[in-house]
Amino acid sequence: LPIPNLTLTGGTEIPQLGLGVFLVEAGEAERVVSDALEVGYRHIDTARIYDNEAEVGRAIAASGIPRDELFVTTKLWNDDHARAGEAFEQSLDRLGLDRVDLYLVHWPLPKVEGSALAAWHGLIEIAESGRASAIGVSNFEIEHLQQVIDATGAVPAVNQIELHPLHQRRELSAFCAEQGIAIEAWGPLAQGKTDLFERPEVLTAAERHGKTPAQVVLRWHLQQGRIIFPKTGRRERMVENADLFDFELSGTEIEAIDSLEVGTNFGPDPRSFDVR
Ligand code: NAD
Repeated sequence: LPIPNLTLTGGTEIPQLGLGVFLVEAGEAERVVSDALEVGYRHIDTARIYDNEAEVGRAIAASGIPRDELFVTTKLWNDDHARAGEAFEQSLDRLGLDRVDLYLVHWPLPKVEGSALAAWHGLIEIAESGRASAIGVSNFEIEHLQQVIDATGAVPAVNQIELHPLHQRRELSAFCAEQGIAIEAWGPLAQGKTDLFERPEVLTAAERHGKTPAQVVLRWHLQQGRIIFPKTGRRERMVENADLFDFELSGTEIEAIDSLEVGTNFGPDPRSFDVR
């Protein structure tokens, strides 16, 4: 697959498209990741809380693909902020790897004073040890980013946030662009839970290009420089979701999709989410 790499601040290269494995159940994840690697995916996004790191690791080991051709992300869960080093070791053990390409603080937990900062200090040490090529955060609002940057001078390489045509995070995206923080869009298809694929702005472009609505939405992300890892357990959809590199949306088509913004999040609110 001709999936392009982007270069993160700090120099780490990341395939712009990968596979996310949130809600891929235990018992299914090894097969799903094996299928994805066979189809040509080389970037897998998991997390401790997804409870499938061990299966992801087994699929990677079984694939025989050289480690340096793969990009693996995992994340520090909310109850591990004060023990990032240990939690990271445990993730590595489950993955069967001696390093990851990207390690993220999963949520900022702003209601717990100092928690995000403690986690970020932990990730900085992990990066210095060489066992994470890049480090970043997830679900951080501008004030949460500003806090860790001001306190440490270390700028996260990425911010992984809910972002799709219905919720575009323009102000946060502009702040990240200024700081050199790449955006990873989670829920790039709005988690398949909305009428996004039936909206005329998406359907018209799909018909014009002979593509599916999902492909149009994913292409809309790529053309704006975001990193995406749409989730599916179905092999034919893995192929569909990676078949994005033989067409280009026009400026008018992008603007039409931009107009779908509704101004609210669909997933949890990072300012209050504190499940541990
Ligand atoms: P998504 O937007 O990728 O939606 C996935 C759903 O979309 C599927 O379950 C399916 O119903 C549908 N779908 C997928 N491909 C399709 C196709 N070709 N045609 C029609 N429908 C299709 O949502 P997601 O899984 O929540 O997000 C992607 C990844 O982002 C996750 O797997 C995970 O790795 C990451 N994520 C991170 C966070 C975070 O807090 N950092 C939160 C949620 C997800």
